[in-house]
Amino acid sequence: MQTQAAVLNQPNGPFDIQTVEIADPLAGEIRVAVKAVGICHTDLVVASGAMGLQFPAVLGHEGAGIVDAVGAGVTSVKPGDKVLLTFNSCGQCKPCSHHEPAYCNHFVPYNMVGVRIDGSTRITRDGAAVSDNFFGQSSFAGYAISNERNVLKVDDDADLAVLAPLGCGIQTGAGAVLRSLAAKAGETLVVIGAGAVGLSAVMGGKIAGCATIIAIEPQEGRRALALELGATHAIDPNAGDVVAAVRGIVADGADMVVDTSGYMPVVALSVNMIANRGRIGLVGVPGSLDAVLPIPVVQWITIGGTVRGIIEGDSDPLVFLPELIAHHKAGRLPIEKFSKTYRLDQINEAIDDAHHGKCIKAVLLID
Ligand SMILES: [Zn+2]
Ligand SMILES: [Zn+2]
Repeated sequence: MQTQAAVLNQPNGPFDIQTVEIADPLAGEIRVAVKAVGICHTDLVVASGAMGLQFPAVLGHEGAGIVDAVGAGVTSVKPGDKVLLTFNSCGQCKPCSHHEPAYCNHFVPYNMVGVRIDGSTRITRDGAAVSDNFFGQSSFAGYAISNERNVLKVDDDADLAVLAPLGCGIQTGAGAVLRSLAAKAGETLVVIGAGAVGLSAVMGGKIAGCATIIAIEPQEGRRALALELGATHAIDPNAGDVVAAVRGIVADGADMVVDTSGYMPVVALSVNMIANRGRIGLVGVPGSLDAVLPIPVVQWITIGGTVRGIIEGDSDPLVFLPELIAHHKAGRLPIEKFSKTYRLDQINEAIDDAHHGKCIKAVLLID
């Protein structure tokens, strides 16, 4: 069938709205009429060509919509079901069988390589292949083909424009605190960066019952939003000594630091922000593959510190996304406070707004 898609024809775009052909779903595949899709930072990193994607390509990995058709053997959803899309995984390897699909041994072929295992694509344009299957969906399009492991059925009254970003950015931030670092009530938390992922980490800290939540963020509007969403303190990193500011609030250091910025001059300071037995979670991807976090070894041994990398908040999405939806329903995850909607054909404007701090989480709507 034909549909409109935001096609990236060369590195760094722009995205062109063009007509493409979407295949019928094969066995195990699910075709979804996309109604809303968030724009995530990873879309822009991959759009730069840094990850080696072949162009033309269709990106988009925070899709939400209505099941249009299912391939043979699909039992978890049926046409007409409202669904959220998330990242894909193989379901067979050791991390997958340990409910850690974000660390699937086959994460790249299942999420980042724009063809099926047999080399075919689900999207073509004028008969020529278009890279697809981005995070098992490529949802910057009227229709997306996904799989049972990355499709979650939601209630018929679910607001897809609000919930779409749960599939990546929100579960990444909230999961980093709730799952990866397993925050406990009464602990202290520092979150570096108050974009969509950082604000989700702040809300995760509040849900966990953290006693002190400190947001470090240069933009004043985002600091105010962090305070509104659960941060007890907000620090402007350009206003002076950041470590002294943190220790002025938590004298012994913080139990947890979550970096969502990937901005190494501030990330490097995190090793001096944590308390004894403190743990640092690295979520934000630095601009350079060569970025290094220096650890003072003697100090590190003395305090029993931990640093760990985090993908997708260690989410097991078919389990964790329903928990996040319940938190949203109960008012504990008000993501609509920082999302802004655009039409699919405004995708370039939405990205420009995000770059200029005019929007935190852009969500594209498709009729
Ligand atoms: Zn796997
Ligand atoms: Zn993402």
